[in-house]
Amino acid sequence: MRGVDHRDILRAVNELPNDIPFHIHISEQVKEVADCLQFLGKRPVEWLLENVDLNERFHLVHATHLTSAETENLAKSGANVVLCPSTEGNLGDGIFPLRDYQNFGGNWSIGTDSHIGLNPFEEIRLLDYGQRLISHKRNTFGANGGLFALTNATVAGRRAMNNFEPEFFVTGADFDACVIYEEEQLLENVSFENLASAIVYTANVSQINETFVAGKLVEKDENYWTIREKFVACVKRFRAP
Ligand SMILES: [Zn+2]
Repeated sequence: MRGVDHRDILRAVNELPNDIPFHIHISEQVKEVADCLQFLGKRPVEWLLENVDLNERFHLVHATHLTSAETENLAKSGANVVLCPSTEGNLGDGIFPLRDYQNFGGNWSIGTDSHIGLNPFEEIRLLDYGQRLISHKRNTFGANGGLFALTNATVAGRRAMNNFEPEFFVTGADFDACVIYEEEQLLENVSFENLASAIVYTANVSQINETFVAGKLVEKDENYWTIREKFVACVKRFRAP
């Protein structure tokens, strides 16, 4: 929203196929809101709500700075927000009003944006801890916190990839999953009903041992050194001589 001509946003909305996800980074920083107010006479999300017929295929990344009316109208539009707490924390952006947004039935998922962090569980707990710190309350996600958060992030996250399937595992669908061993010391004695919360609040990214991508097992050990080598070589190319 701060990077392009607003008429191009409308062109993209109106002229691209309407059966693909629409992602837009918006209202991330206070200065962006001030600039937008000066240029368009509206706040970024306020302008989008007034000019675009938002629905479930829209994904607003960050949407950090919202008025109460924007929070309510955005949640009720059916659009999704993509929260990137490690990036937003790293850049000092601010904290999304998640409690109010959830109370209005808002959809949300998580993203990595600047890639300062790549642990999905850490993103969720950072998101929760931010809410706890500003509200002085601990129950951001309700009684079954971890499961609620993982479900929300997965269902809305799939929509960001044009997958509208609300169930985790469906017969005949591609099997996508990440594998965490139950022998992990902090998980071994956790009851099944608390397992999702234990994973969300303790899991390190190194505990994701394998992933299934469209039914194919991808083992970490098998690929780790190749990926590591490529990563180091890639970053080296960006270093000043
Ligand atoms: Zn961004």
